[in-house]
Amino acid sequence: MSLSSLAATPGLPPFFTYQAGQLTVEDVPLQTLARQHGTPLFVYSKAALLAALAAYQRGLAGRQYQICYAMKANPTLAIVQTLVQAGCGLDIVSGGELERALAVGADPAKVVFSGVGKTRTEMRRALDVGIDCFNVESRAEIDVLNQVALEMGLRAPVSLRVNPNVDPQTHPYISTGLKHNKFGIAQAQVLASYRHASACAGLRVLGIDCHIGSQITQVEPYLDALERVLDLIELIEAAGIPLPQINFGGGLGIAYHDETPPAADELWQRLLQRMDARGHGGRKILVEPGRSLVGNAGVCVTEVLYEKPGDPKNFLIVDAAMNDLPRPALYQAFHQIVALAPREQAPSNWEVVGPVCESGDWLGRERTLAAQTGDWLAVLSAGAYCTSMASNYNTRGRAAEVLVDGACATLIRARETAADQLRLESLLPSAQG
Ligand SMILES: *Cc1c(COP(=O)(O)O)cnc(C)c1O
Repeated sequence: MSLSSLAATPGLPPFFTYQAGQLTVEDVPLQTLARQHGTPLFVYSKAALLAALAAYQRGLAGRQYQICYAMKANPTLAIVQTLVQAGCGLDIVSGGELERALAVGADPAKVVFSGVGKTRTEMRRALDVGIDCFNVESRAEIDVLNQVALEMGLRAPVSLRVNPNVDPQTHPYISTGLKHNKFGIAQAQVLASYRHASACAGLRVLGIDCHIGSQITQVEPYLDALERVLDLIELIEAAGIPLPQINFGGGLGIAYHDETPPAADELWQRLLQRMDARGHGGRKILVEPGRSLVGNAGVCVTEVLYEKPGDPKNFLIVDAAMNDLPRPALYQAFHQIVALAPREQAPSNWEVVGPVCESGDWLGRERTLAAQTGDWLAVLSAGAYCTSMASNYNTRGRAAEVLVDGACATLIRARETAADQLRLESLLPSAQG
């Protein structure tokens, strides 16, 4: 494959380019970072993070809004810090994420707390630090949160997450707004739940919330959900319960391959048009984007350990694996894989697989690559739901992470060592004493 044909590889994400035959993030060649920090190595572009956030800020400009980054997409402190310093609030789904939010200096008044299984301990901590809103997902949770808040002499700010029962046309594991999903309150129970919540002395009803799924690449599912949520708002307000804020969740997709999701500003233009047309444009708007802020801001650099040609498949065994980058194994997800320094030689067809002892440990299937043992490859679009879903399976340490800003590269997570992994474990006392 010639260099010119590789330079034309469609869909290199913004801020990742080939310069002098080398894949470069902003102004830093990835080879330099691989040499310095080893592999597997996740590398992020700060400019890409800020550009993705700016699309939402443009789309919502002139409105009363709060963007709450869904930090489960990538909770590494420096990533969260970058977005927070650019004005982002946060959407958290656990007490651990709340501690991360506080560790980066996020304003609790810009933090919303989602998830179907909040514990009393998590609720207490969130009330204690004064988060903006709990997105409550069931009648049972309403009662527990009410009780916890009353015990603390507080009123918990809440939105109820409704399940609008729309099909986001995405992978079944990442669709959340269909009635057979575990998320949100079913439409038929929404009004009764609001009546109940507004009668709870420990709760202060702020608004309504929905989140229909992830990796959504079309506007239509959002428009469908919006219509249903606006119908619900009208119903609830007619019952005398004001809902000053509407939280529209996250879910906007990114281009992993040949998908063409709408840009965030385009999506919000369409949604705001509809909200204005129905007279709801004056409400405070919250959004909880995850993947669309970080997904295409990161890559995973990996080294080819072995070539294992065979019949019918040729395997390229690399040092990144399903424990580092679980999306292919988990969802059969596609990630582009490219060479850091493409070779001028005939490419072959490879199964790109990791060292983990599972047949599901693959990163790419049937990839046309000119690569040899010792070469570095980059798995693209690896900024979201990769490190955040990483595990220590096979007692593999988690990868190191680097953030690039122009010509400056900062190690933001050191490579995990075996000692790090063994730290919390204990041997049994010996039987002899
Ligand atoms: C996961 C999640 C998000 C973010 O989803 P993305 O697809 O990453 O944008 C937002 N809100 C809630 C409630 C979530 O569970």
